Amino acid sequence: MQSDLIGKIEKARRYAQEPERIKLHSMSATFRGGNDHNITLDDGNWSCDCHFFNRWQTCSHVMALQRMLEPMLSEDARRAGSPFSFSEVAEAVG
Ligand SMILES: [Zn+2]
Repeated sequence: MQSDLIGKIEKARRYAQEPERIKLHSMSATFRGGNDHNITLDDGNWSCDCHFFNRWQTCSHVMALQRMLEPMLSEDARRAGSPFSFSEVAEAVG
C-alpha cells in the first residue's frame, strides 16, 4: 500500500517536469496588480477585463499567461491575439 503511494508520488514528480502532457481547455484567473484583472480561457479563446484587451483582443496579462502556460495550451490558445504587432499599436496610438 505504502509502496503504491510512493510510486504515485514519484510518477507525479516526473509528470510535473512534463507540462506538454497537459492540455488546458479552460481556466479562469485573477491577475493581481495595481488593478486586478480577470482572465479566462475557454476553448482556445482568451478574455481579459482590461481596457487594452477590449480593443486589441490581447493584452499583457494574456500574453504573460500564454508564455507561462505555453506547453499546456492548444495551438489556438497559443496564437490567440497574435501575431501581435506593437508597430500596429504605435500606428493606432499615433
Ligand atoms: Zn488584460
